[in-house]
Amino acid sequence: MDDACSAAINDGFLYMGSGNFTETSDGFGNNNYNGYQRAEEIIIKANSELANNIDQWRKTPGESYPPTPPQNNIRYILSGVYFHRDDDAYYHTLTRNQIHAKYNIDGNDVLDVYHAPKDGFDGFASGFGGSNKYFFIRDYPLYIQPACQNWSLEFAGKVYNHEIGHTLSLRHTWNEQDACNDTPLGFIYDRVTNTGGCLMNQYANCYRFDPNIPGCPRKPCDEQHKITNNVMDYTEQFPRAYTQCQINRINSELAGNGNTYIHSCNGCMPSQAFFHMNKSYWICENTSSVVLNGLASFNETIYLIEICEIVPGQPSNCMSGTYYSTGWMTGTVGRIELASFYNFLPDKSYKITLTVDNEDCPPSHTFEQIIGTKGCPVPEPCVCFELMAVNPFGDEFSLYYDATESGLLEVVLVNQVSGQVTQLISPTQISAGSYIHRQNVGHLPTGSYVVLANFKGEQYAKTAIRF
Ligand SMILES: [Zn+2]
Repeated sequence: MDDACSAAINDGFLYMGSGNFTETSDGFGNNNYNGYQRAEEIIIKANSELANNIDQWRKTPGESYPPTPPQNNIRYILSGVYFHRDDDAYYHTLTRNQIHAKYNIDGNDVLDVYHAPKDGFDGFASGFGGSNKYFFIRDYPLYIQPACQNWSLEFAGKVYNHEIGHTLSLRHTWNEQDACNDTPLGFIYDRVTNTGGCLMNQYANCYRFDPNIPGCPRKPCDEQHKITNNVMDYTEQFPRAYTQCQINRINSELAGNGNTYIHSCNGCMPSQAFFHMNKSYWICENTSSVVLNGLASFNETIYLIEICEIVPGQPSNCMSGTYYSTGWMTGTVGRIELASFYNFLPDKSYKITLTVDNEDCPPSHTFEQIIGTKGCPVPEPCVCFELMAVNPFGDEFSLYYDATESGLLEVVLVNQVSGQVTQLISPTQISAGSYIHRQNVGHLPTGSYVVLANFKGEQYAKTAIRF
């Protein structure tokens, strides 16, 4: 499977649904996995590679190594997960620098990671060292292949460590001057060129054991000991390791340029508070929904939510009689319906404060956000339907939709040029649930379409290309 997964990344592939992880799902119908969880799992994966460096260290024959493999004491803390819906960024009409300039979040203290499915590289770091660090990772195209999902998580953790390695001044080991004597260069081989010529004495980067790669005559990767597992090589070996010199370089980078990226940790993994909320919420008679999405809080074992009304512009003062605290709750923060225990009134401003703690690793950490409320529109809005479509689509059109309430649904497909309408779902009463609708549309011309759904009187639209 490894071969298929790593090879498939260069092929064309279908994006299903939203084209990336979202706040609520994996983007193609799985509501049990979302972008917050993805971020947490990758950080945990990358941290475990850092934590077990001693066990992972593979010594290459012929090199001189210190007797005790080094420990790597760096760990990452997830400080937030943000979702942007921006075609120019998604399709790289903007350069990476422009994307970072637009979405940079605390870039001098926090390393920003952009999950960009359409990037041309598995990973791409902002530079070697530097005081504004960020990197891009592709990730999603691997995840969406069902057979590659477990592998893709390992791979993402590895890309994180490799790219962060670059931002902490590490260079590739196999063929360039990386300023480290304990990272062996790749084994020497003689490369057969595309035109059948021979380049003698090249340094091999052995991604995997493969005796079938030709040499003229020396082959690059025909013996197991030639396969590296250094973090700064390209290799499919999991997990991988750092040498003493690489760890020293990381530490000196973090003592200089990178110093602002160090946050206290007491020798353990502290928790980090983060949540997403909308800027404003409708307050209706019976159906008010004010959800705090705290899935991106990291490594917490207990949490506490405080709510109070404030005067706009004066977030430090709670208005008297409006303060509420949940008290310490056990477990991790998930999606929490605040309206179930706090009586929000329309046309007010509220301060929402989340504090998390890890009982094995103080201190606690707090994140707060101001939200607004508005009076209920008529008719009451329904936050109860999500629509996803395979895009682009061929002869078969697949539609995924979720309803959290029952209601009347109709879905049509409209050709954007001719206006021709094809009925996908005639008006039908559906119950709450997740659905898949497949339909042969082989008779339709290629081109640009809009999927239009009407659920409980609300319109939902998605564009999709027929090829
Ligand atoms: Zn690299």
